[in-house]
Amino acid sequence: MNPANPSEVLGTTPNSGAGEIRQAVDAAAAALPEWRALPPAERGAVLMRAADIIEERGEELARLMAREVGKPMTESRMEVPRAAAIFRYYGSEGWRMPGMMPPSTRPGVQVSSVREPLGVVALITPWNFPLAIPAWKLAPALICGNTVVIKPATQAALNAAALIRALEDAGLPAGVVNLVSGPGGTAGDALVTDPRVRGISFTGSTAVGLSIQERAVGKKVQLEMGGKNPYVVMEDADLKDAAAKVAYGAFGYAGQKCTASSRAIVVEEVYEEFIRELLEAAGSYKPVDPLEEEGTVGPVVDEKQYESILEAIETAKREGRGVLDGGATGSKDDGYYISPVIVADVDNRSTTAQEEIFGPVLAVIKAQDFDHAVELANDTRYGLTAGIATRSLRYASEFTARSESGLVNVNLPTAGLEFQVPFGGNKASGVGGREQGPAALDFYSSWKTVSVLPL
Ligand code: NAD
Repeated sequence: MNPANPSEVLGTTPNSGAGEIRQAVDAAAAALPEWRALPPAERGAVLMRAADIIEERGEELARLMAREVGKPMTESRMEVPRAAAIFRYYGSEGWRMPGMMPPSTRPGVQVSSVREPLGVVALITPWNFPLAIPAWKLAPALICGNTVVIKPATQAALNAAALIRALEDAGLPAGVVNLVSGPGGTAGDALVTDPRVRGISFTGSTAVGLSIQERAVGKKVQLEMGGKNPYVVMEDADLKDAAAKVAYGAFGYAGQKCTASSRAIVVEEVYEEFIRELLEAAGSYKPVDPLEEEGTVGPVVDEKQYESILEAIETAKREGRGVLDGGATGSKDDGYYISPVIVADVDNRSTTAQEEIFGPVLAVIKAQDFDHAVELANDTRYGLTAGIATRSLRYASEFTARSESGLVNVNLPTAGLEFQVPFGGNKASGVGGREQGPAALDFYSSWKTVSVLPL
């Protein structure tokens, strides 16, 4: 379905039931012995070819993303090459697959540790980065020699199918990656509880992630979940620059990023001046059709999300002082468009400051000083990403040390990441090891240590 035009059906996907999930796991289990026995560099060659194919199909993939999930073309066009680069990065890991051969403490003994695949792994993905998130799970899973059953969010199933097609066209053997689709409650549940699935990597909401953890007894589980990301603005900051970065983090892609800035925590000395700058910066985030060339905000992904954001806006207006009065731009039949909302003087313990909205809603919170700002930034059950705007080295280094988030940014937006370094959150934002960079190899493999005494 196209969120910019809800009456347009872009395609249909099956609702996989328990029987289909079993078949997919059967296929992954059958393909495992041959795939894991391939030299890693040969597995890497498939990923490299898939990267080329993704790039060749770049414009087509970006348009599909804009139409299926409403991501503005400016961002869709960035996500496609990122997915290709992720495949290349892990493809090249096939030449390294770092192991260990430390000197033994026992005379004459040779000790070494090598990585082995987990086996069949389940990848469960959200709709908001419909190519990049599946890519950053698939690529390390495959290079380590695992076979996969992947269940994307139903809102983004066509994007996932296009990605898997690129892998198939690159020569991936049958059964190595198996795509299933359908709502979480049925398809997801059958996948999570299948005893042959040895690892589960999930990205999505905290509620669903924690429920998977309860059911995935005895499996290796990695959960990337929600956020309520703070951006601290200090009195010595370049306020125009800080406002631009907060607005980008809060309103780009209609705030539908796990890394979105949803709380601006501003010291009282520059509070009102920052709000003036913020209003000006927010002016460039007007929702438009995602296929428009220069758009930065499209529609939100579906009717459920649309209704839930509008409800959160009502709560926010009750809990704070409305300084930018956005909301629904028209009838939802013409697309799920919501323009940015800024609410000031929000109490950090209120619902607006504590619950993830996943829409273009920013809470502005006043702090007395630096220590108070750090305390407020950490006063949340989440810990994904955080930012600070300052010119002071002391503030910057103290903030990075004291922040409870897995990703910390100084004078950079909370939204924005690089795939060659570990990515993930703490507390209710992340459990079970980091994704991306070399850290992902640790999740998708287990160490086997071999000790030999040659006789
Ligand atoms: P969601 O939790 O509704 O769904 C995520 C996936 O889980 C989908 O494929 C869904 O079908 C599946 N699912 C749902 N119920 C399930 C069940 N009972 N068992 C197994 N699978 C089930 O999330 P969403 O709406 O697709 O995505 C938005 C959320 O994702 C936000 O909370 C956002 O913060 C989070 N997110 C986090 C990161 C991160 O890296 N931390 C990145 C992107 C999105």
